[in-house]
Amino acid sequence: MINITTSNNKGTYKSPNIFGYYGNYGGAYIPEMLHRNVEELRNKYLQIMYEESFQKEFQYLLHDYAGRPTPLFFAERLSKQFSSTIYLKREDLNHTGAHKINNAIGQVLLAIRLGKKRIIAETGAGQHGVATATVCALKGLECIVYMGEVDMERQQPNVARMQMLGATVVPATSGSKTLKDATNEAIRDWINNPTDTHYVIGSVVGPHPYPDMVARFQSVISEEIRKQLLEKTGNELPNNVVACVGGGSNAAGAFYNFLDDLSVQLYAVEAAGCGINSGMSAATTQLGKPGVLHGSKSLVMQTADGQIVEPHSISAGLDYPGIGPLHAHLYESGRAKFLSATDEEALEAAFNLTKLEGIIPALESAHALSALKQMNLKPNNVTIVCLSGRGDKDLAAYMKAMQHSSS
Ligand SMILES: *Cc1c(COP(=O)(O)O)cnc(C)c1O
Repeated sequence: MINITTSNNKGTYKSPNIFGYYGNYGGAYIPEMLHRNVEELRNKYLQIMYEESFQKEFQYLLHDYAGRPTPLFFAERLSKQFSSTIYLKREDLNHTGAHKINNAIGQVLLAIRLGKKRIIAETGAGQHGVATATVCALKGLECIVYMGEVDMERQQPNVARMQMLGATVVPATSGSKTLKDATNEAIRDWINNPTDTHYVIGSVVGPHPYPDMVARFQSVISEEIRKQLLEKTGNELPNNVVACVGGGSNAAGAFYNFLDDLSVQLYAVEAAGCGINSGMSAATTQLGKPGVLHGSKSLVMQTADGQIVEPHSISAGLDYPGIGPLHAHLYESGRAKFLSATDEEALEAAFNLTKLEGIIPALESAHALSALKQMNLKPNNVTIVCLSGRGDKDLAAYMKAMQHSSS
């Protein structure tokens, strides 16, 4: 499991090069004033992450606090529907309802070992903010979460959760008052507090070493899948692994330990929103071009003169105008296939899973489920779907869809 060889030139799928590049994507495009913070992290993260005492505490919290290992569930009725074999990796059963807690635990433990007393984060839908505030409460650390004013209005239950957990939620009031403005505020905070503060980024995005660090914290997902599949089928390699991609952290975690097994087909599913060419989409590989967003070079949805295009998805977690650099590389190299699902298709897949298996998925995860019908599954195929989160948070959208279909 321990792989700290990052000194290769081009980087591999599992390890970017020393500058943080996966192929043509990655790096650290940051203001001069952030160099010290990011350098400190880059110099220390691998050493700290793979220390025995760190791993011991990390594994303990994943097990006793987050509830890992999450089950690998044979979805029998869903399998019948597709005349194939489908397993669900139940990240929805984690504490706080999604995979984000894996990374939040990892980064907060790392921050403590770096001697940091103050944790900052940015959040769009609030899910990453809740996961971070949760682990800060557990560890008694100060937590400040930046959130766009518009997002705070849209996601009031998550704002309340963070406040109940003891975090200070600071509204970002500039620009469109959404995620990118919250990110700017968090960066400004980090520049002003360079010694005592760690910035917890919630996906495989941001300047190097964040994408690599977050992918490694999330890689527990595929580590478990291999063991569980071996136990259930006698073979640790599935034919297909499918995951939704916002920034790409649950997909990176679900893919990580299969990246070098070329017989395993990887499917990343983006949010097409109202349709790829509707002007209301978040399908970055289809609509994006190389550019710099939030500190790394990747594929970015932008206008001809480089202005970020506002994305749209029914699921707040996929409503992001970029993808992590690993995914840009997986796309460009062809190692993963990129599919997309519209808002409507995701809703349909969510209702389908709920009726067949008694599991209400997060709208994000429903995008991954929706891609099954595009995959031409064979009877002898084994497919893993990463069920990144549970659907409680999406009940309002589901209620609206039910009213629609009954009227
Ligand atoms: C945040 C979130 C996502 C999207 O983030 P990734 O980094 O792409 O995984 C997907 N599913 C759920 C349930 C989420 O909360």
